[in-house]
Amino acid sequence: SSVVSTSFQQEADKQENILRPKMLKDFQGQQRLKDNLAVFVQAARERKEPLDHTFLIGPPGLGKTTLASIIANEMGAEIRMTSAPALDKPKDLAGILTNVTEGSVFFIDEIHRLKPALEEMLYIAMEDFEIDWVIGQGPAARTMRIPLPKFTLVGATTKAGSVSSPLSSRFGITCHIEFYNEQELASIIARSAQIMDVQIDKKAIVQLARCSRGTPRIANRLLRRLRDFAMVMGDGTVTVAVVDHGMERLGIDNNGLETQDRNILRTIIEFYDGGPVGAETLSISVGEAIESLEDFYEPYLIQKGFLKRTPRGRMTTKKAYDLLGIPCKRNLDD
Ligand code: ATP
Repeated sequence: SSVVSTSFQQEADKQENILRPKMLKDFQGQQRLKDNLAVFVQAARERKEPLDHTFLIGPPGLGKTTLASIIANEMGAEIRMTSAPALDKPKDLAGILTNVTEGSVFFIDEIHRLKPALEEMLYIAMEDFEIDWVIGQGPAARTMRIPLPKFTLVGATTKAGSVSSPLSSRFGITCHIEFYNEQELASIIARSAQIMDVQIDKKAIVQLARCSRGTPRIANRLLRRLRDFAMVMGDGTVTVAVVDHGMERLGIDNNGLETQDRNILRTIIEFYDGGPVGAETLSISVGEAIESLEDFYEPYLIQKGFLKRTPRGRMTTKKAYDLLGIPCKRNLDD
């Protein structure tokens, strides 16, 4: 079964790569972020220097990996990609750092999961472009200073709060990637439909944008499923009726909420009287890993105004009661 899941993963990656914008001009939305990055890239190029280290912060599927490769393309630089959980020992990181080329981009996804010893090696590398490597053991141990080529670190995280301040303070450029609005998602969907050669009505694009959770990855995934529904049930064109039918079958509502989103809200209301409830308790009650609860589900529920994070835990808002049609006897919105 691991072989199957691997080939599934590869297929998913392949489909994502086809739709991945290569240059800033093809990256839809996030106008302010793009405008600023364009200036920093142009200035670095004119100075013939690598771009400053860049920190990308935002929920999953909003384009952090895409932006990292766009930065490399815009700089005309090579890119080396890895993810913090894949780096186990100091030598794993040292091996990459000593092999990066001058001016290239080194991308680390999920950088909040870097082990402390590696984090320390990394922030010294970022600041001084060198690493201190210990050879031998005990009294015979010596430290060797290894110079590195000047490179650009691009670090991505869903959890800025979990990154230590010595590390985060060494990024010269910080980009917060926000959920996309409906208009931005509509232009992403229109672009993807064109690349995938899918016929889709203008109104269907708007309706799909509304259901896409503010997230390009989800918009693209839903577009693929709607293409299936349109082929099997209609004449191949994605219409508003196809979108409505598809969303109904996939359990996605007009706010872009999935079954599990509603389940989370319902659980807080029915078992904890609207909260507050701690993240750990909630994760057990709804049978969802705490990471996906915190990184995937909560940010969107909060952005949409269904959930609040308070120092004592998560609380639903009046809007959540209204969504589920449950009368609210408490005063929650003060
Ligand atoms: P994760 O951290 O979960 O890997 P991510 O933030 O790195 O997510 P990406 O893999 O970069 O997300 O993007 C997911 C998909 O969404 C990609 O296929 C990409 O083509 C598409 N995408 C993301 N942002 C945009 C955008 N602004 N314009 C067009 N397509 C986008």
